[in-house]
Amino acid sequence: MTDANYMQQRMAELQRNDAVQDIFSKIVSGKSGYKAPIVKKEIIIRCKSCMTQLEPFHKFCFECGTKAEKPAEQ
Ligand SMILES: [Zn+2]
Repeated sequence: MTDANYMQQRMAELQRNDAVQDIFSKIVSGKSGYKAPIVKKEIIIRCKSCMTQLEPFHKFCFECGTKAEKPAEQ
């Protein structure tokens, strides 16, 4: 796992936490209460190879490098 992938994964985890989201928004916008325009979709993407749960922005599995494929449009 590269440092860049690790940071991407950590950022994804942090953004799921509303308390951290507020802190994160302060960093991004310089003020509290600002909600970053993150579209929340209940789409679970898993690596076909190792079944690692991926975020929608992951192009490739961060565990094994398999190309991530999004589920069909609904
Ligand atoms: Zn994988």
